[in-house]
Amino acid sequence: MPGRVLVVDDVLPNVKLLEAKLTSEYFDVLTASSGPEAIEICRTQIPDIILLDVMMPEMDGFEVCERMREDPRTMHVPIIMVTALSDPGDRVRGIEAGADDFLTKPVNDVELFARVRSLLRLKVMIDEWLLREQTSTQLGVMGPPRSMDEIDSSGASILTIEDNAIEAANLSETVRRDGHVIDRYASPAQGYDAAVAGDYDMIIISLNLSEGDPLRLVSQLRAQERTRQTPILMIGESDQIDRLAKALDIGINDYVVRPLDRNELSARVRTQIRRRRFHDLLRTNYEQSLSLALVDSLTGLHNRRYLMAHLGGLMENATKNDKPLGVMMLDVDKFKRVNDEHGHAMGDRVLESLAQVMRNSVRTVDLVARLGGEEFVVVMPDTPVDFARKVAERIRDRVEKQPVWLPDLEKPLGVTISVGLAMMRVGDTADTLIEAADQALYQAKRTGRNRVVAIDEVEEAEARKTGVIGG
Ligand code: GH3
Ligand code: MG
Ligand code: MG
Repeated sequence: MPGRVLVVDDVLPNVKLLEAKLTSEYFDVLTASSGPEAIEICRTQIPDIILLDVMMPEMDGFEVCERMREDPRTMHVPIIMVTALSDPGDRVRGIEAGADDFLTKPVNDVELFARVRSLLRLKVMIDEWLLREQTSTQLGVMGPPRSMDEIDSSGASILTIEDNAIEAANLSETVRRDGHVIDRYASPAQGYDAAVAGDYDMIIISLNLSEGDPLRLVSQLRAQERTRQTPILMIGESDQIDRLAKALDIGINDYVVRPLDRNELSARVRTQIRRRRFHDLLRTNYEQSLSLALVDSLTGLHNRRYLMAHLGGLMENATKNDKPLGVMMLDVDKFKRVNDEHGHAMGDRVLESLAQVMRNSVRTVDLVARLGGEEFVVVMPDTPVDFARKVAERIRDRVEKQPVWLPDLEKPLGVTISVGLAMMRVGDTADTLIEAADQALYQAKRTGRNRVVAIDEVEEAEARKTGVIGG
């Protein structure tokens, strides 16, 4: 899954070296020799990942990173800081500035590609959700995406699998100090069971367990639905970079090496938890906006969009199973008058109440939708014409007999509806079927309102008029 990588370094040989390495693995490489140049490039070409030198004159890597995080276009692009420093304080500063990861010069190839690939995978996933969220925003059902910085990272529940008691105590103390709750298991098998059964925000695994293979454990956790997306942080020794790189490929999200620097550990845990919560937020927002986009907010019925998307499928099923399918279109009679006499808000109450009557008058397999305004559609799968007619007549009758109580009115308001009915025929599409029901509705209006008319009657009348049938 090669992607586009932006390499930022003020020392040309460093740029050339990374460029050569990445190009040989088929990445598309952009280069910049200073922070401002990198920011300029990002205005027109957004990279999938940024490799950023820390020590640069004019503007250092921390500042570039902060600027990238403030710009909505680059807010979510993973940034790996490349540093000659091995001072943990710098790592913490980088993570606070919004960096996702670190590489130390001279850059180890295995580590470079493992980190880049792992972050690209993450980016593909986040991009997918951002795209969906963008669509929802365009539909006007959601606000613009929030930034990861606004996400609270406190109070997480963490599971650790570590059989060294001293290391475990150290780890627990750091994590607790940050306000998280931690459960520790010394046995990988028990830890695995607890992880799969529980609802943890994060899992921390030691690469040096005396029992079992930690990498296999990671791949097993990734195979389970419950832990597929749970962030995993691995703790290893500095001479185990190859294994840690392998672990990144298998699916861990990050690693730290011993001796543990508390601040670095805190910062990495925080980043993982924020990211996880951000991802959850995108997903929940998306699911909510999806339902908002398909449900009519006034009546809670499905909307036109949903109806048109699903009617086709219902029709296909009916054809395949050779079953009749009926569609009725319902429209409130003289509804303008209700609005004029009682106000638009009262009109809305009437629509809500009508929706309720319709919903209560059909089977659960029937689809009731508000087409817009005071027009509704009911789709009845597996329903012969005489039964469909009965249902239509039942709804019409109930509406007439159940006047709507409105606040501040002395007596309830009587409303009636007209209904047009059409049965699916060979060659119908969703549009032609709805159109037929609409024609029948038009006829019901023309011939007095508060009545049900089927399209067959309309056609028979037409035929009679033009002399095709009888005299
Ligand atoms: P008929 O269908 O019997 O011919 O008469 P009508 O007065 O119902 O017909 P028309 O379709 O001309 O008017 C529909 C009215 O419904 C127009 C509009 O003011 C009102 N309306 C449409 N949507 C809404 C809505 O969401 N809320 C309310 N309160 N009124 C709505
Ligand atoms: Mg009307
Ligand atoms: Mg109308």
